[in-house]
Amino acid sequence: MATTTGVAAEAARRRTFAVISHPDAGKSTITEALALHAQVIGEAGAVHGKAGRKGVVSDWMAMEQQRGISITSAVLQFAYRDLVVNLLDTPGHADFSEDTYRVLTAVDCAVMLLDAAKGLEPQTLKLFEVCRARRIPVITFINKWDRPGREPLALLDEIEQRIKLRPTPVTWPVGVAGEFHGVVDRRTGQMTAFRRTPGGATAAIEEHLDPEQAARRYGQDWHRTIEELELLALTGADHDQAAFAAATSTPVLFGAAVANFGVRQLLDVLATHAPAPGPRPDVTGTPRPVDAPFAGFVFKIQANMNKAHRDQLAFIRVCSGRFTRGMSVTHAGTGRPFATKYAQQMFGANRETIDEAYPGDVIGLVNATALGIGDTLHDGPAVTFPPLPSFVPEHFAVLRAADSSTFKRFRRGVEQLDAEGVVQVLRSDRRGEQAPVLAAVGPMQFEVAVARLDVEFGVTTRLEHLPYQVARRTDADSEERLRGVGDAEVLTRVRDGALLALFTSGWRMRSIGDSRPGLTLDELPAAG
Ligand code: GDP
Repeated sequence: MATTTGVAAEAARRRTFAVISHPDAGKSTITEALALHAQVIGEAGAVHGKAGRKGVVSDWMAMEQQRGISITSAVLQFAYRDLVVNLLDTPGHADFSEDTYRVLTAVDCAVMLLDAAKGLEPQTLKLFEVCRARRIPVITFINKWDRPGREPLALLDEIEQRIKLRPTPVTWPVGVAGEFHGVVDRRTGQMTAFRRTPGGATAAIEEHLDPEQAARRYGQDWHRTIEELELLALTGADHDQAAFAAATSTPVLFGAAVANFGVRQLLDVLATHAPAPGPRPDVTGTPRPVDAPFAGFVFKIQANMNKAHRDQLAFIRVCSGRFTRGMSVTHAGTGRPFATKYAQQMFGANRETIDEAYPGDVIGLVNATALGIGDTLHDGPAVTFPPLPSFVPEHFAVLRAADSSTFKRFRRGVEQLDAEGVVQVLRSDRRGEQAPVLAAVGPMQFEVAVARLDVEFGVTTRLEHLPYQVARRTDADSEERLRGVGDAEVLTRVRDGALLALFTSGWRMRSIGDSRPGLTLDELPAAG
């Protein structure tokens, strides 16, 4: 058995993070680049699923392959220096799902990946808002510096103005975007020049230059860098660990993931500054120390990840203690013992069994059908972690079984999808049991629901999109007053019993509210 100090030491060397970005910013590329720099310990589930790209592609649904995207989130674990790094994948396709957001409940830090030519893009902003709401420290990596892009100072300005995060560059580029020679470490003043390796197949070749050498070699470009560095020094944009930990400032790095430029520097910032797993507050707000007995929570459930196995996998973030294979733990929701005999991590299509895990790690439990999203498992003193937040839905559709004789299976399937958090299920007396309303943050969640009902439950369904775009939390009194009003409807969210009022637009909601003063229409929290 590991001693208590052993657990604390293991927790201290964990770094658990996710990359938040807009599609095409380079998330898959940087994932591969990070893995190149480090020693991969294991890939759990699908890491990245670009069609035709080498790597581990999840095959649990043909839809994924057709679209060349990865719907499933999974974990890549690797060793760097004396650290164990867990990179949790946030699917970054053109669409959103709650799954993506939920991954952010299981990380201690996020890397915000920006395209140097595009700056902050819509999906990055949405994901950033979840980080902000959860006070997750964010490191910024400005990617694609090998191509023409924007001015570095303009990019910093955009970060500061639009998301009110104070940028504190750790490195600074030498050479404008498109003519990228390397980066300067702002603290030491030393330059690292990058040289490409063929196809970026191995870590970039780095050459360390002192300022005199850099000036001789890069002339104008170096002088421009020096001027910009002086400007930065004047504004005092230096790394401040307390501000970073409080998620009010962000270390910034420049690089080109495709050529592996700046990726080692990113790992070094993660190693040096990103927080290790800390005590996690339970539902009452009392933190459970990392060296307390084992406890963790389910942040993702994935059925049928592997067609050959036909099973359900629950992904659990370890928050405290040491998890050992086969240990019997308690399911906090029911108080019942839960055997983890079959605890496994997924390695692509093949599975390997893990023996132990520590705070910050993710374990996958197979056939854990008794587990739901947000459930806590623990050993020793009881603990229940807060339920996972429900995210604000923006898309709504009625779902019906095409053939009423399949209704029983339809109902079971819808319950299952609700339990897994694939979609939110809303009901009302008016619509009845046969026609639940599905709510999602991205319409692809509907496609996943329909495909899974077909494949796993043998039910063909029809989906009818509803024109609503805005949801607000309301109460029974306001529900009564909204009855019969056009362009609005009140339904109950099955998961938590919340009454949601749906409107076709923000404008329509306001005009309805104006003509009926005193309606309760509360904004849903962005992330709990
Ligand atoms: P994702 O959608 O965020 O996972 O983006 P990908 O990793 O698939 O990258 C999108 C495209 O950008 C691909 O064609 C990559 O080769 C390219 N890309 C990624 N990083 C860089 C980079 O640093 N420089 C350049 N020039 N292209 C890059």
